[in-house]
Amino acid sequence: MKLIITSIFLIFITSSTLFSQTHSTFYQSIVDGVKYDSVLNYLKKVQSFGVKSPGTPALINAKNWLVNKYTLYGYSNIQIDNFTYNGNTLYNVIVNKTGTLYPTTYLIVCGHYDSKAGGGGGSPGVNDNGSGVSIILEIARLLKNVNTEYSIKFINFTAEETGYTGSSNYLNNTVIPQNLDIRLVFNIDEVGGVAGQINDIIKCESDQSSPTVNNVNSAAFTDTLMTLTSLYSNLGTNNTNAYGSDYMPFQSAEYIITGYFEDNQSPDVHSSSDLLANLDTSYVFEIAKAATGATLYLAQAYENTNIIGEQELADFIKVFPTPVNDQLNINSSVPVYKIEIFDVQGRLILENVLSNQFNNTINFSEFQNGIYHYKLSDKNGSILKSGILVKA
Ligand SMILES: [Zn+2]
Repeated sequence: MKLIITSIFLIFITSSTLFSQTHSTFYQSIVDGVKYDSVLNYLKKVQSFGVKSPGTPALINAKNWLVNKYTLYGYSNIQIDNFTYNGNTLYNVIVNKTGTLYPTTYLIVCGHYDSKAGGGGGSPGVNDNGSGVSIILEIARLLKNVNTEYSIKFINFTAEETGYTGSSNYLNNTVIPQNLDIRLVFNIDEVGGVAGQINDIIKCESDQSSPTVNNVNSAAFTDTLMTLTSLYSNLGTNNTNAYGSDYMPFQSAEYIITGYFEDNQSPDVHSSSDLLANLDTSYVFEIAKAATGATLYLAQAYENTNIIGEQELADFIKVFPTPVNDQLNINSSVPVYKIEIFDVQGRLILENVLSNQFNNTINFSEFQNGIYHYKLSDKNGSILKSGILVKA
């Protein structure tokens, strides 16, 4: 009897640890929009440009194609980050999607679009890294009209193959001087697998390098990425050390990173045989699903309630007074299940399941004067209303 109880207890602990992220039917409905043909067509396009190393017209053509695609998908906030390297002007393509609750905190989803020079005329880079570029495009296409709490930067870095030149330039000339608040750098590089092999595992990469202050958070996000990968794809996962790609300059500067890398490692990368015929398109398609589910969760995407319009719904809920003194009132004509209050750093400082779902008071007397965010949600977790509170 004791043995049985112990086993049940262990099963419970194990599953609650592994699946702290639960499957969302809303996220699944977006993941279901990932199209095999989209991914295939992006990969064909990447191949058609040829060798995309610094100084080649192919690299410029690929940049223009990316900008056109993101524009076509409805993005208007596209930043072209240009710099000079060995006499050539190079371009990082940064596509911004603004978050609703934390507009100045960013999830970076990135991968490089250049390919390697030399080695039998250079590499067309369909696996390394047309695969990552294709997946990021597909995620951006699907998330355009989805609300996310955090802002997302979809970044296609240039000149990774010359030693993270593009990502280092962006880090040193934009991220650090502007002190950008980055939640996580999620890098996707070389995820094409090998044609003719069974490609059913993806490496989820955690920071195991010095400096070590960011390693615990990277490990936690990588665990989360592994869980999300199992929830939204049929892939198995391996937790491995992050190395050799655009997240490394960020990890050196103490940012938190994670990444995807193929488990069956292609013998064709960095050579003229890095072609569509030598990778596994079905594998890229499966990783696109996993990465879409992961991005939705990591940016905290949420569903708009469609009972009535979002603005109309928000109008049915009164949160007052402003500024608040000792007592905050929430009067609503729709059921409000939960209130969460965050400080300016985005830290959750109060989470209450409301006893009365229509008329509630929250004791604010212990709160310090300052600015807070609040979020009211229904019993399905959908946000009904969010906004700013001032305690004075
Ligand atoms: Zn690469």
